[in-house]
Amino acid sequence: MSEDNISLFSPRLLDWHKSLDRPLPWKGIKDPYLIWVSEIILQQTRAAQATPYYHKITERFPTVASLAAVPIDELLSMWQGLGYYSRARNLHFSAQIIMDNFGGEFPSNYKDIISLKGVGKYTAAAIGSFAFGLPHPVIDGNVIRVLSRYFDLDEPVDTSEGLNKINHLVQLVFNAKKPAKFNQAIMDFGATVCLPKKPACSSCPFTSFCQASLNNTQSLRPIKTKKLKRKQRNFNFLMISKGAKIYIQKRVEKDIWQELYQLPMIEGVAFSKKSKLEKEAIDKWGTAVELEPIFTHKQLLTHQSIHSIVWKASMAPKGFSIPEGKWVNKADLGDYGFPKTLALFLKDFLYIR
Ligand code: SF4
Repeated sequence: MSEDNISLFSPRLLDWHKSLDRPLPWKGIKDPYLIWVSEIILQQTRAAQATPYYHKITERFPTVASLAAVPIDELLSMWQGLGYYSRARNLHFSAQIIMDNFGGEFPSNYKDIISLKGVGKYTAAAIGSFAFGLPHPVIDGNVIRVLSRYFDLDEPVDTSEGLNKINHLVQLVFNAKKPAKFNQAIMDFGATVCLPKKPACSSCPFTSFCQASLNNTQSLRPIKTKKLKRKQRNFNFLMISKGAKIYIQKRVEKDIWQELYQLPMIEGVAFSKKSKLEKEAIDKWGTAVELEPIFTHKQLLTHQSIHSIVWKASMAPKGFSIPEGKWVNKADLGDYGFPKTLALFLKDFLYIR
């Protein structure tokens, strides 16, 4: 890689960015609170899906004080459909930390920004550069892909050596005088031109410099060695109703979907073993139950594959005791946050929302 290729990266990137038409509601804003909310929503979520949630949450909570004051259930309910609910819990927790430890002012230095729960290096660099002009480059999957192609990196990027190399490369091309512009441009470039499957090399401003394009190795970069292994989980949800009411339960365990609501659930029993499930329900809740399958769904999370089935459960409504449970009118279920699987079920079967 020549000196020219390094020194030309930033000017060409910023030049290309001037002509990009990709309006997003959080672009160009300077309010660190709003940038923070947008960046947390954008973790694991595409911009198109994030946009309505960003509007909804920032209109309802326009300041860090308003977010800190709301009960967590309300935020979780608004978060429904976005997934990865730990983001909402961290947002809420950190809003309270900002009120308690920073006098309600969003911290303006990198060390304090990254100390907030749910804020990693990428998010801290984004908030720091966009809101305060701090010279920290963002490094995420987009940036790794762009740089590993531009420099035709033949080392795996999912190793510490590979990541060190990416860190070194980003420092070589980073524009520390215009950190916000550089970070926004490289994020947009990865999201619109240097795409994972079909990079638009023919219209790319780097096509005659990019080493992967010259070596025809775009589809081979970045190199990854580790295959993602997902844990398989079977969730058996029981819909227990009494007139217009349904029994729901809060998930309090330290696990996915913590603090969200669910139908009473038995984990682990295979869906084909109905009699075993009925026996477990007796053991667990002390009442006989008859089950009929009415809904199935599969949800892929980063490290887990969740196979769910909802059973219509006929059981004596008296006499069972389920921790953290309560009867709720069907019409009021929209006030509670449910995991995506159950939100879909409720929408399909009970016409909630
Ligand atoms: S030439 Fe192709 S592979 Fe290289 S940076 Fe541009 S879009 Fe990515």
